[in-house]
Amino acid sequence: MRKTIIMICAALVAVSCGNKNNETMKANEIFPKGQKAAANFTGTAWVEMLVTNDATFDTQVYNVTFEPGCRNYWHSHPGGQLLLVTSGEGYYQEKGSAIRLLRPGDVVEIKPDVVHWHGATPNSEFIHIGITTQADKGAVTWYGPVSDEEYDSYKE
Ligand code: MN
Repeated sequence: MRKTIIMICAALVAVSCGNKNNETMKANEIFPKGQKAAANFTGTAWVEMLVTNDATFDTQVYNVTFEPGCRNYWHSHPGGQLLLVTSGEGYYQEKGSAIRLLRPGDVVEIKPDVVHWHGATPNSEFIHIGITTQADKGAVTWYGPVSDEEYDSYKE
C-alpha cells in the first residue's frame, strides 16, 4: 500500500514537470531579435545592436533575447552595465549573492568589475535591453560557464 502511494506521488511529480515544460512562456518582441550570439552563452541567445559606441555617448545599447534555460557566462564589465527588462522572466546573479528573479520593468545596475551573469528562467523566454556604460573603459572579461548547480540554485 505504502509503495503504491509513493509510486503514484512520483507519477504525479513527473506529470507536473512535463506540464511545466509544455507551458514555456513566450516573450513579446519589441525591438528586433537580431543575430544568434556566437560565444559565451549556455543555450541560444540573440543580440541586436541598437546604439553602437561613439565619442558622444560612450555607451552601447543592445537588445538581448534568451531562449528558456539560456544564460551568459560569468563576466564583468570594466565600465559597468545597466539591464532594462522588457519581457519574460529572467535571473540575475552576482558572485557570492543569491539569484534575483527579473520581470518586465525591472532595472539592474551593475557596477564596474562586478562578476555576474544574466539569463532566462528554465520555463520562460527572456528579453532585456543592455546598456554598456563608460564603454571606452574596454571589453567584457569572461570567466566561463554558469554550472547547472549554480543555475538551479534559485529559491523563491
Ligand atoms: Mn553583464
